[in-house]
Amino acid sequence: MFELIMSSGGNDEDDIDDGELPWEDVEPCRNDQNTVLATTCPNCGNKVERFYFKSPDWTWDRLCGQAGWMEACFKCKKQLKFDMDIMS
Ligand SMILES: [Zn+2]
Repeated sequence: MFELIMSSGGNDEDDIDDGELPWEDVEPCRNDQNTVLATTCPNCGNKVERFYFKSPDWTWDRLCGQAGWMEACFKCKKQLKFDMDIMS
């Protein structure tokens, strides 16, 4: 009798679960050129902004730097999406 190996957790989504990036690193990345998305925050209903996140220089020195496009609500400080682009 053969055992069927089920691949679990193959449902890989971009959504952030509990691995949020520190807000003190995120907030400096916010700027006037942020794109405001048509979607609203599921948490508070505020506008969702899309911007390019890059972690501070020291994180790259320690090889734990991350950069990528993030979608976040700055009102309730919720990171909704993060597409990692570069990782050191
Ligand atoms: Zn919100």
